[in-house]
Amino acid sequence: MSTAYDHRRLGRELGLFDTDPLIGAGLPYWLPDGATVRHALEEYVRAAERAAGYRHVYSPVLGKRELYEISGHWSHYSDDMFPPMDMGGEQLVLRPSLCPHHALIYRSRSHSHRELPLRMAELGGMYRSELSGVLGGLSRVRAVQLNDAHIFCTLDQVEEEAHGALEMIRRAYRALGIAPARYRLSLPGAGGKYIAAPELWRRATALLTGVLERSGLPYEAVEGEAAFYGPKVDVQVVDGAGRESTLSTVQVDFHQPERFALHYVGADGAKHRPVMVHRSVIGSVERAVAHLVEQHGGAFPAWLAPTQLVLLPVSAGEMANAGELAARCAELGLRAEVAGPERGSLGARIREARLVPYQAVIGAREAAADHVALRLRDGRRLEPRSAVDVVARIRARVDDHSVDLWESAVPAGEL
Ligand SMILES: [Zn+2]
Repeated sequence: MSTAYDHRRLGRELGLFDTDPLIGAGLPYWLPDGATVRHALEEYVRAAERAAGYRHVYSPVLGKRELYEISGHWSHYSDDMFPPMDMGGEQLVLRPSLCPHHALIYRSRSHSHRELPLRMAELGGMYRSELSGVLGGLSRVRAVQLNDAHIFCTLDQVEEEAHGALEMIRRAYRALGIAPARYRLSLPGAGGKYIAAPELWRRATALLTGVLERSGLPYEAVEGEAAFYGPKVDVQVVDGAGRESTLSTVQVDFHQPERFALHYVGADGAKHRPVMVHRSVIGSVERAVAHLVEQHGGAFPAWLAPTQLVLLPVSAGEMANAGELAARCAELGLRAEVAGPERGSLGARIREARLVPYQAVIGAREAAADHVALRLRDGRRLEPRSAVDVVARIRARVDDHSVDLWESAVPAGEL
């Protein structure tokens, strides 16, 4: 991890996001290139969730104060919540988490044990009343877009579901080119922040410990870091300034199913209480992108890059050729851009595109043969080859969410 990168500075330089004092501290907006990175990230997460059997929902970012009184947020978490808004005799609150809405969605239908584990996911907004929202940053924000999910399951299914969530997290980190600093088993500490139910804490902690042991992951148990309703496995990352924060999390919750009187109908025909496993693969979109920017210094893996391929016609004579290739890329869903000679010398244009994973140079000879001379961001250069072939290979690497830009060992004959 380089300390030279500060995501706030890079975010502005790269045109990813910014803030305005009139919108307010801790309330960043996303510029087109930042929105492109965010879309790619969100699409990755949703596709991974669909493949793992999750179903997506949408729920509103507000709820009645009563909802959070039932969930326990009001008595245990109100310091982090925005003050309620009076609306026609009732009070509405910007939600501090998605769980209460998901509990209500679960409760709105009856469920048989055959439907469990029921995996409900949402990339949704939530709000935190940070008093010191850092202006210009994505890591401490007041409006959070959370990659969240709740798995409603039987006690017997908790371990498998938590294990599956940790596996999703490991796959996502590989695709994102990031590494956890450590795994933390977050336990309750002293004080009234936590619900008082020692037996439930003990069971939930034993379950998560079992999952960590089975995964073979090194972890540290830390007191005072649990959610108010249950213990968590937190995946910790460290930013450019050496500050640690939680990106991903897996939590076991016996409390909210009880508070919302959730049930499923068992094989015996009787009503049983499900367990809620809360999990987030990439955490909040804001913190994930802040971390990616710092980790990669703006040189994102190809599947996340705002521009994936820059086409560099050597002279005006190859502009038409480059334009056709850009159109072909757009058809294939690749983000390509033409940087023509009007933007300076070839060397200057290559330097300007140094963060773009693929740079395709098209000279007169390449244009005549429908070839390109491909340069990779990591400095590798390939012999001129068929443009169609190059584009198809880039498409395949993007589809694989590969962090490697090309085959690691290119056969000698191909170079
Ligand atoms: Zn939750």
